[in-house]
Amino acid sequence: MSDPTTIAQQLQDLRQAMATACASVGRNVDEVQLLAVSKTQSADAVNAAVIAGQRHFGENYVQDALGKMDHVVGEVVWHFIGPLQSNKTRAVAEHFDWVHTVDRLKIAERLSAQRPAGRAALNICLQINISRETAKSGVAPEQVMPLAERLVELPNLRLRGLMAIAEDTSDTSKLRAQFGEMQTLMARLQDAGMPLDTLSMGMSQDWRLAIEFGATIIRVGTAVFGPRQPRPPSTEH
Ligand SMILES: *Cc1c(COP(=O)(O)O)cnc(C)c1O
Repeated sequence: MSDPTTIAQQLQDLRQAMATACASVGRNVDEVQLLAVSKTQSADAVNAAVIAGQRHFGENYVQDALGKMDHVVGEVVWHFIGPLQSNKTRAVAEHFDWVHTVDRLKIAERLSAQRPAGRAALNICLQINISRETAKSGVAPEQVMPLAERLVELPNLRLRGLMAIAEDTSDTSKLRAQFGEMQTLMARLQDAGMPLDTLSMGMSQDWRLAIEFGATIIRVGTAVFGPRQPRPPSTEH
């Protein structure tokens, strides 16, 4: 991992760059939350970020995340951003505050049923397959409305908004089209009366553009922590 000083410096640089990017498109930087994606990084790396003032962390692998949660000190908000299979929903419902990757009703129903009594509703984003690549998870844009309508009826979930992973390309016209479509989709759901406030999009390579198209959470890993560690071995997939 990067050393604590480097992590603190990278966070500071990123927050400054976020302020600049927001200002250049007439947005207030307070509208955009930085989600530090700590997948494969150690608890020490997360702690270094916490000490540097970072509060929201994103994890992709359930076992990897649970292993480090106990060693992270301070008030941290955990976001699950990885592919979610049925056999992992209970651990996620019990240990996370947010899930960004819900793309089918069955998973949502399990999360709602398995959310421990007495805990706040689990915050949910619906993942949209915005690039329409067949290998990518996420619901097709046309199918989001019926899914959202079912999801808002589940008692222990709170639908906050939409999430997307844009195509891995440096073609900014494609990225603009995809982020723009997310912004339109979000507005359509809001117009239909859904009280959504979250658009989770933008990563290390493309977060500036995502901010231009209304992102309220950007998910940044390598630009905060440096290169990822080897993927945790496990039974995850
Ligand atoms: C890994 C990951 C990120 C962060 O990617 P970087 O390119 O390291 O910023 C963001 N979102 C999701 C869903 C991820 O899996």
